[in-house]
Amino acid sequence: MKQVIDPGSVIGVLGSGQLGRMFAVAARQMGYQVHVFSPDYDTPAGQVADLEIQSDYQDLDRVARFASSVDVVTFEFENIPVSTIETACQHVLVHPAGKVLYTTRNRLREKEFLRGIGLPVTPFAPVRSLADVEQAVEVTGLPAVLKTASWGYDGKGQSRVSTVEEVRRAWQALESQEAVLERLVEFAAEISVVAVRSSNGQCACYEPIRNVHRHHILDISSSPAELPLQTEAAAMDMAHAVMVGLDVIGVLCVEFFLTQDGSLLINELAPRPHNSGHLTVDAHVTSQFEQQVRAVCGFPPGSTARLQPAAMVNLMGDLWSHRRPAWSRVLDFPDVKLHLYGKRTARSGRKMGHLTALGRSAQEAIDVAGDARNLLIKAD
Ligand code: AMP
Repeated sequence: MKQVIDPGSVIGVLGSGQLGRMFAVAARQMGYQVHVFSPDYDTPAGQVADLEIQSDYQDLDRVARFASSVDVVTFEFENIPVSTIETACQHVLVHPAGKVLYTTRNRLREKEFLRGIGLPVTPFAPVRSLADVEQAVEVTGLPAVLKTASWGYDGKGQSRVSTVEEVRRAWQALESQEAVLERLVEFAAEISVVAVRSSNGQCACYEPIRNVHRHHILDISSSPAELPLQTEAAAMDMAHAVMVGLDVIGVLCVEFFLTQDGSLLINELAPRPHNSGHLTVDAHVTSQFEQQVRAVCGFPPGSTARLQPAAMVNLMGDLWSHRRPAWSRVLDFPDVKLHLYGKRTARSGRKMGHLTALGRSAQEAIDVAGDARNLLIKAD
């Protein structure tokens, strides 16, 4: 199969949310055509793609036809069924490889992989039955967080637990799923490193991004993270080790907890562009989405240099609960960029868009982005 996919070729995307949308915009800007495949219609990615294919991921005939009609396949969502990826692989290059998804789609496998290559993770233990609870608590201590091993994102399928009885109840509420119990980390900060690796093995990392979550969902990201240089370098080295260890081709994000004593623990991996990297679109030489295009098409990474300090705030569906947000107020800010994902219905907890503010410092950008978001819902 062809390893270098030139502009003018067709990139297939499995999944059709906002990550696919921003990827499609970057790819089309570079002269590629984009075909999007997902079970939905009129999707954030489909709206800006050359072709939107609505099909179940398990319809392997449709998957085979889709894969045969494009030059390379990537995905924007890691919970694509294994059979879908395997079918696509029989017809076309798929980046990153199915084995990357296999490792990262299950928290236990992911943590075992990280520990296996010598990287620090939050103390954890599997909980596959009620009988595992006491032993798991011995490993993690209390309080802890119980998470589903699979299908968890944005805090879904997670609960904080303070007693053995609460762990039992939380596990039962998951309805007998495989779960992981983690120590609750009293972190000083959360950061992420967005990294990219191309097919010839060249890697590049953005400097760490500082993240603040609300109700387990990302709320604010800012860059620079303003951490000691040593900590930043250690986080980037770890991201590099993950890319090489997993043999990723594409973008990968590593989320870390920075503990009170200044050490780093890896919380999670995402083998794709990540919400915390959205600020690279407006604030860096190369966006994380262009990096994904470059990597999956066989080109080296672009520069990860930051042009200006920046902050991104997510716009959740809750902002729509009283009335239509007052967009003109945001657009009155000359240094704020509005990104909306084309979702037709706003729901509480649904990511509808984001704002990126540019400033002279990260703090200034955080303040401006926050002010702009607050004005969206302020009564006249
Ligand atoms: P996750 O889905 O694992 O990325 O979790 C979402 C967010 O929940 C994290 O970014 C943290 O803010 C919080 N969280 C998850 N796990 C832990 C933990 N073990 N200790 C403290 N906070 C956590």
